[in-house]
Amino acid sequence: MKKRFTIIGGGIAGLTAAIALRQRGIDPLIFEAAPELKPVGAGIGLGANAIRALALLGIEKGIVAKGQFLDGLSFRTEKDSLLTHADTARVSRAFGQDNFVIHRADLHEQLLSHLDPSRIFTGKMLHSLTIADATNPRRPISSPGVTGNIPGPGESSHAFQSPIHLTFHDGSQHETDYLIAADGIHSAVRRAILPDVQPRYAGYTCWRCVVPEGTAIAREVEEILGRAGRFGIIPLPGKRVYWFACINAPAQDARMKVMTTAELSKIFAGYPERVQALLKASEGLPLIWGDIADLPTTHRFHHGPIVLIGDAAHATTPNMGQGACQAIEDAVILAAELSRNTDPQDAFRAFDNRRQERTRMIIRRSRALGNMAQLQNPVLIGLRNAVFRCTPTAVFRRQLKILYSVDLS
Ligand SMILES: Cc1cc2nc3c(=O)[nH]c(=O)nc-3n(C[C@H](O)[C@H](O)[C@H](O)COP(=O)(O)OP(=O)(O)OC[C@H]3O[C@@H](n4cnc5c(N)ncnc54)[C@H](O)[C@@H]3O)c2cc1C
Repeated sequence: MKKRFTIIGGGIAGLTAAIALRQRGIDPLIFEAAPELKPVGAGIGLGANAIRALALLGIEKGIVAKGQFLDGLSFRTEKDSLLTHADTARVSRAFGQDNFVIHRADLHEQLLSHLDPSRIFTGKMLHSLTIADATNPRRPISSPGVTGNIPGPGESSHAFQSPIHLTFHDGSQHETDYLIAADGIHSAVRRAILPDVQPRYAGYTCWRCVVPEGTAIAREVEEILGRAGRFGIIPLPGKRVYWFACINAPAQDARMKVMTTAELSKIFAGYPERVQALLKASEGLPLIWGDIADLPTTHRFHHGPIVLIGDAAHATTPNMGQGACQAIEDAVILAAELSRNTDPQDAFRAFDNRRQERTRMIIRRSRALGNMAQLQNPVLIGLRNAVFRCTPTAVFRRQLKILYSVDLS
C-alpha cells in the first residue's frame, strides 16, 4: 500500500520539502494554519548554500528573477564609521552561487507555483495528534497533555508507531503514516512529542519593513551597531529597501508591540541620516514585529514516523541570516534520504544524523553574534568594535566557507 506523507505548515520549510519530495515520487498533503496563502512578510536573505539547494531542485531561476544578488556585508558604528566589510560574493561565487535577497512574498509565490494547489489545505491549524506507543501499544499518546511516561529534556521517551491521527482546530481529522512537522518555532507537533523543548528568548526584539523607495548601498547588506540597538538596511530589486531594527527589551513587552516608526526614530536618533530617512519613509506602512528567539540544541529531530524540519526543529536567531537557508537545506536532504532509504523511518534517522551538528553550530554562532551586536555597555562596545576592526577578512571568509560548504547529496 502507498505510504501517506503529511506536512504540517506551509512556510518555507513545508513548501520546499513538498517540492523536493514530489521530485522523489512522494506527493505529501500540506496542512497550513493560515486561512489563505497570501503574500506576507518583509525581505529575506538567502545565502549561497540555499541558492545551491534551490538550484538542485531546479527552481532557483524563477526565484532569482524576483530578487537580487548581493556583493558584500558591512558593519558600521552609529557614527557611520566602518567596522568591517566582508566581500561575501568572492566566497559565495567559489561555491557556484551568490548571496541573494528577495521579498518573502515573492519567495512564497515562487515556491507555491511548483506545487499542486489541490494538495494544500489552508485554515487547518493542527490542534493535537494521537499516535500509538510501540512500547505500550494499548495506550495511545495524545497531545496536548502527554500522559504516561513524561519525556526527559529534549527527548521523547516513546517509540512512536504509525498511523498518526491529526485533529485540527476546526474539528476536522486526518490520518497519515508519516508526519513532517514544518510548523515553525512554536510547532504544535514538537510541543506534543517534546513538551520540554521551548523557544528561548534572545533578549532583543525586532521590527521589519519594506519601503517602496529608499536609499541603500547597492548590492550590500549594511548593519549599523550602536548603543540604542542595531539597524539593518538591505536593497531589494527596484528602489525597494528592506530594513530591520533590533533593540534590547523584556520578552513580549506590550510597549514594543505598539511601537511606531516615529518612536523608533527617537530611539535611533543620532544614527546615520539614511536610518532616519527610511523610518520616515515607513510612516503608515505595516511594521512586522516579533521577539527574537531560538531553540535549544539538545533534542532529536526524528521520532518514529515523525520528523521535525525547519524552525520546528532548529530555529535560530536571524543574525547569520540562515534560518530559512537551513529549512531549504533540510528539504533537499530529507528528500535525498527518502529516496536512498526504503523505510522512511531510516530516512528520518539519517536526516537527523546529518542535520544535528550543522544546525547546532549555526544556532550557537548566531546567538553569539547577536549578543555581540546588541551590546549596550560602552566599554564592551569599544572592545567589540576593536575586535571587528582588527579581525582579518580571511577569518570572515573562513566562516562563510563553512556556511556554504554543505553536502546536499
Ligand atoms: C526578523 C527575522 C529575520 C529573518 N531573516 C532571515 C534571513 O534573512 N534569512 C534566512 O535564511 N532566515 C531568516 N529568518 C529566519 C526565517 O524566517 C525562518 O527560519 C523561516 O521562516 C523558517 O521557515 P519554516 O517554514 O520552518 O517556519 P515558518 O516560516 O514559521 O512557517 C511555519 C508555517 O507553519 C504554519 N503553522 C504554524 N503552526 C501551525 C499549526 N499548528 N498547524 C498548521 N500550520 C501551522 C504557519 O502558519 C507557517 O505558515 C529570519 C527570522 C526573523 C524572525
